[in-house]
Amino acid sequence: MTGVVVLAGGVGGAKFAAGVQSALPDPAALTAVVNIGDDFTHFGLKICPDLDTVCYTLAGLENPATGWGRRGESWRVMEAAAALGAPDWFRLGDLDLATHLERTRRLRAGQPLHEIVAAFCAAWGVKARVLPVTDSAVPTIVLTDEGELAFQEYFVRRRWQPRAVGFRFAGAENARPAPGVLEALHTAEAVLIAPSNPFVSIDPILAIPGVREALAGKPIAAVSPIVGGEAVKGPAAKMFRELGVAPSALAVAEHYRGVISHFVLDKTDALQAEAVRRVVPRVLVADTMMTSAEKRRALAAGVLAWVRGARDTI
Ligand code: GDP
Repeated sequence: MTGVVVLAGGVGGAKFAAGVQSALPDPAALTAVVNIGDDFTHFGLKICPDLDTVCYTLAGLENPATGWGRRGESWRVMEAAAALGAPDWFRLGDLDLATHLERTRRLRAGQPLHEIVAAFCAAWGVKARVLPVTDSAVPTIVLTDEGELAFQEYFVRRRWQPRAVGFRFAGAENARPAPGVLEALHTAEAVLIAPSNPFVSIDPILAIPGVREALAGKPIAAVSPIVGGEAVKGPAAKMFRELGVAPSALAVAEHYRGVISHFVLDKTDALQAEAVRRVVPRVLVADTMMTSAEKRRALAAGVLAWVRGARDTI
């Protein structure tokens, strides 16, 4: 068994994957399997927000202020387009646009998404392997009290305000994992589920046929994205509430029941450790707030050591 797989969404996933990359002696031992449910077409360009956030972060190119987009970004194209009446609810920076332009050109020329991601990672100097969970389009649809909304309509345009009543991953049943995904899962010594949104970042990965099966029988550790009953950012806690569940680390562990063997909750929530132990056999209390490169490395190193059986507290 070699290598570590991280299942990741966008910002929370990228920070954790970067921690794992820096904690491993050989960064190439990391494979990040990334959500593509947020992907959409805008201005005729294929946009892959989570893949780009993970790649930019692993390359050290990310915008530290936002957690998404590129460092040193400018907005001249967007401003000029907006002056012509173009929609500007989804912000696309000038440097970021280069990624979308070249990705779209390659897709139209017939190159599969996983090859494009690999080529971009090589160009950006990313040492880890980054894989889209599938090359197929499997868009996340948010079922709301106003009807079905495409993910970015819900998330960015409507700022996740409509009430969510469920989620649908359109076409997941016919999608195939991208080449390399199942192999990475089968050979990994451990799979780590990043503190990403369980409903719209991790569930769309688990929905691709073959992924859940490939997880069986090996250490699978999830890090809670809910800390102190709230999401560190984004709508995860709001979604739990709207689905009738009080948001907590315990609720996240319940959500992943049957998938995970290990669960990491924040020290803020240490009192829930006993209750979580009734859901998941191995539980670790840690400082999960990845507010600096050192903290994300320390969290990843601690989780890896624990999953490997070295120690029970970090
Ligand atoms: P998105 O696709 O950009 O929304 O990103 P993800 O789904 O990967 O990450 C969003 C989730 O990460 C949210 O539910 C946050 O609560 C969680 N998150 C972000 N930063 C941190 C952190 O430093 N620590 C923990 N524990 N969770 C975090």
